[in-house]
Amino acid sequence: MATSKVHITLKVVFHKQEQRVLFAEASSDFVDILFSFLTLPMGTIVRLLSKHPKTSRPPVIGSLNNLYRSIANLDAKYFTSGACKDILLNTRNSAAEVCENLKINIDDKPVEYFTCEDMECTERSHTPSFSLYKGVVCKNCAKMLKKNARYLNGTRSDERGVFVEPTESFVITDDLHVIPNIPASTIAILESSGFTDFGVLKEKTFEIGYTEMLDLLKYSILSKTPLTNMFLRKNNRIMNNVVPTYNCQIKTDGINSFKNMTVKVLVQKSSKKILLAHCTEDFIDFLFSFLGVPLGRVISMLSKNNEPALCVQNIHQSASELEVGEFLKSQEKKDMLLCPQLSMLYLFSKQLFKDDKFPKLYGSPSTLKEYYYLSSYDDSSSREMILANPTGEKGFLKGTEKFMVTDDLVVTPFTTMSCIKYVQSCGVPPNDSEEQVISIGAKEAVSLLTASLVSTSVLTNGLKHLILSKPKTERLVKKLKLDN
Ligand SMILES: [Zn+2]
Repeated sequence: MATSKVHITLKVVFHKQEQRVLFAEASSDFVDILFSFLTLPMGTIVRLLSKHPKTSRPPVIGSLNNLYRSIANLDAKYFTSGACKDILLNTRNSAAEVCENLKINIDDKPVEYFTCEDMECTERSHTPSFSLYKGVVCKNCAKMLKKNARYLNGTRSDERGVFVEPTESFVITDDLHVIPNIPASTIAILESSGFTDFGVLKEKTFEIGYTEMLDLLKYSILSKTPLTNMFLRKNNRIMNNVVPTYNCQIKTDGINSFKNMTVKVLVQKSSKKILLAHCTEDFIDFLFSFLGVPLGRVISMLSKNNEPALCVQNIHQSASELEVGEFLKSQEKKDMLLCPQLSMLYLFSKQLFKDDKFPKLYGSPSTLKEYYYLSSYDDSSSREMILANPTGEKGFLKGTEKFMVTDDLVVTPFTTMSCIKYVQSCGVPPNDSEEQVISIGAKEAVSLLTASLVSTSVLTNGLKHLILSKPKTERLVKKLKLDN
């Protein structure tokens, strides 16, 4: 990767005796990269961290690794099209074009566009299709979008700075609050850490490259002290896994088009823990789509009233507090960080994000004229290019199978035996489990989404309030006959 040799200088101030970082002084280039974390889809984060050159075992990000692996392991025959599996495993950033201008772009997917393999179709159509994913079906002719097309004007702008003003410098606290670099900021940080003796401060300069930025991404989700972990303690004090019983306080405003889904869950009676869900493809499509949701979007759904569970929430908070014009480059860039769009379209019936009915790619070409491969053509029309829905109007999965999902989001095709074996492996005796039917609405959908990032007990955390302690009728609750 071209950016891998680029380094950014960071001045780090730490406490000599306590061996902890108090703050770092960073340029706008560094803050731009830190802010770009918010635009990364969750699937991209899992993929990037599993390819980290210096770690043998990928860090566990909530239950997302399980979800990602489940897709990789699921036979191609279960997917609607050949492209679906690839789309889910190779999630694209809707701000990819913008992130090309970062000093260090940690995303491993270069910006690519695909138009219809049939050039005449693109020439003819009123609204030609394009996609970030290869092999998506063209809505105009049903052939494939697989002709590589480029942006006519190139993507790199000469303008300096991506999200923040290039003239500014910033102070970053150990837990990743980003504050304008003025003396009052650093004094306030020192005061809040109960400082009296400035003699214990020590400053050191570090060169930050691609691997360090990947580390920072990891620590921003898994550590309470990312900078200390990065510069002093390496792997100490990482949560390693997020509290299984994390209580997600969520916001559901603006979500009103979600269509309820019904799933059967197997509950451990004594603990009210959901062992697994037994469901059709619509619930699995919904879960798989989590990988396409940008981190900043997930964070925007967590209530601000709580103590942040993840330091990356402080990055989000900082972006919301910095003013447009003075520190942030534009309102569009600010929105891109606080509420980044999805690069794939969800099924309309499972639409969680209403605004994304037609997904938007930031800074991408939008008219036929702007595409490179057409530059030799005489067609000077400015017909609008329409982003194709990778899955068509269908879901990722064919609607012919039943699936089983464990509490920590391992998805497999359902068989009675695999279900029994799993319950047994949890050490739950047959008479301690019962089946319940629950209906998942918008609130539960958001809870499941946020829990997937922070918890290894996603179904229980997201749905526990729906579990009946005393089922109303015996008809509703069919016991799983484990002894048969
Ligand atoms: Zn076509």
